[in-house]
Amino acid sequence: MLYDIIIVGAGPAGLTAAIYAGRANKKVLVLEAKTYGGQIINTPDIENYPVEEHISGFDFATKIYNQAKNLGAEIVFEKVIEIKDLGKEKEVVTNKNTYKTKTIILATGSENRKLGLPNEDELVGKGISYCATCDGAFYRKKTVAVVGGGNTALEDALYLSNLVEKVYLIHRRDEFRGEETTVNKLKEKDNVEFIYNSNVTKLNANEKLESIEVTNKDGNIQTINVDGLFVAVGRIPENQNFAKVINLDESGYIVAGENCNTNVDGIFVAGDNRVKEVRQLVTATSDGAIAATEAIKYINQ
Ligand code: NAP
Repeated sequence: MLYDIIIVGAGPAGLTAAIYAGRANKKVLVLEAKTYGGQIINTPDIENYPVEEHISGFDFATKIYNQAKNLGAEIVFEKVIEIKDLGKEKEVVTNKNTYKTKTIILATGSENRKLGLPNEDELVGKGISYCATCDGAFYRKKTVAVVGGGNTALEDALYLSNLVEKVYLIHRRDEFRGEETTVNKLKEKDNVEFIYNSNVTKLNANEKLESIEVTNKDGNIQTINVDGLFVAVGRIPENQNFAKVINLDESGYIVAGENCNTNVDGIFVAGDNRVKEVRQLVTATSDGAIAATEAIKYINQ
């Protein structure tokens, strides 16, 4: 069996690619290591996707999954461990099978880097968030902290400062990695307090987050009462298994422009695992449409 398109990853980018490929009558296989939906499945309420004013991440993911299936995509839950470029044909090796295909779309997304604190996972949705634009509205007029020093942390803090009562911005150094202009905007805000040279070392919770323990470089500990902690300490793209074939940048993202073409003919990328500025649901689905269109063009040429 030779597939037209194998899509690696059943998140919004991969499933949108499957919808476009299915509508073009292509033979499509989607391979997913975990569950369908990608990271959006953990978002309680999506408010920033056009048309749907409110939809849970689970409902969004289920709808898009069914839509892709109904358009003929075969969706199989296996972990891709290797891809091979054999010229006109490609091979995709999973933990169970080897598949042959004319094209591949890599839509594996990225994972949030975590702080690694013991109860961090169980508090997701109960005070811990990795996405201010997704979850910020739940903390209107409350007190939150943001941890991180890159552009995401700075922009999250700025976004939240317009919604919440108070934002603590906690960074492990005294210099930010993110842009100075955003730092300056934050300094103008009355409700943003900077905490430098410090790490979040403990999450205190009773069903939901109540306070955080913050330890500075001299070992001094303070406890800060917060309703929410936004963790913005970077992301880890899930591209390690493609690195032998596909060019990655120094942070591990697939090097590709807006046309979603990689360095290999017939292999495309869609979504958060490629180099890009805005990593949002709507840009992931957009990439899925573009990558599928490019793959179809490649097959038909
Ligand atoms: P990032 O630039 O990699 O920054 C991660 C931050 O988290 C760094 O400040 C790092 O501290 C800190 N950090 C890492 N591990 C930590 C840990 N275990 N505990 C505490 N702090 C930790 O990640 P990002 O902010 O998500 O940005 C990713 C990329 O997207 C960047 O290239 C960024 O410029 C880009 N981006 C651009 C925009 C924009 O242009 N509008 C918006 C958002 C993101 P150190 O600084 O000490 O290493």
